[in-house]
Amino acid sequence: MKNMTLEGKIAVVTGGSRGIGRAVCLRLAGMGATVVVNYVSRPDAAESTVAEIISNGGKGAAYQFDVSSSDQVQSAFKQILADFGHIDILVNNAGITRDGLVAMMKEQAWDEVIDTNLKGAFHCIKAVSRPMMKQRWGRIVSIASVIGFAGNAGQANYAAAKAGMVGLTRSVARELASRGVTVNGVAPGYIDTDMTKELPPEVTEKIKAEIPMNSLGTVEDVAAAVAYLVSDESRYVTGQFIHVNGGMFMG
Ligand code: NDP
Repeated sequence: MKNMTLEGKIAVVTGGSRGIGRAVCLRLAGMGATVVVNYVSRPDAAESTVAEIISNGGKGAAYQFDVSSSDQVQSAFKQILADFGHIDILVNNAGITRDGLVAMMKEQAWDEVIDTNLKGAFHCIKAVSRPMMKQRWGRIVSIASVIGFAGNAGQANYAAAKAGMVGLTRSVARELASRGVTVNGVAPGYIDTDMTKELPPEVTEKIKAEIPMNSLGTVEDVAAAVAYLVSDESRYVTGQFIHVNGGMFMG
């Protein structure tokens, strides 16, 4: 595609150290962006992502901050703006699970998931929205989930956070559209990462049986959708979600 270059753009990817976030970092760096690889607890993983970006001829740096902390996000984005001069792309990818049936779910499990997966996206969007509006160009992409659309027993907290991300995305898309800033999301199905490795093998097999394509997706499948949404090719697309799920949910 002709306008898929990101030369000169600065991209921040939350949770860029592992899994889907790592693949997004590598993909965006491969398109020419300078990538800020955010992590919270695994500097080794973040540094390895940065090392791979650099060995592929790209540019990137690791930044530690907890997306659930308003103070940490504010000071990190201030620092990123000071270091690079602008932020053009934000990918809200950081996410966790704390699964359990709602009748047994501890309030802490609810709060941690909402604070990281939903409030974290709010903090980061808030931090970039003014600078992006001023520069009249920006791309915000949030990684939601099929679970936010379909629901899932044992994941009420996660589903609520991801469904919340849909409302957040569509509202902010309306707020920023006139300033050249698009706000979209990607809703992956089941993707092979550390997060899904926690599932017992029999559960993974059951999930596969419900996927028309009969296999889990790869992190590159998700990164490809993000690549389109952050490029100039998608300039007239805002408030939308691309479902990357092998056909398991057709929203
Ligand atoms: P992983 O568990 O493999 O990686 C999670 C990433 O998020 C890590 O980089 C981790 O950093 C980071 N992270 C976690 N908490 C925070 C925090 N508070 N602040 C900053 N960074 C944080 O997850 P996946 O790659 O599987 O998932 C990525 C996103 O995609 C999530 O939002 C998830 O909900 C979503 N998703 C995943 C699916 C799947 O099947 N895997 C399906 C649908 C959606 P660190 O390395 O420092 O721990």
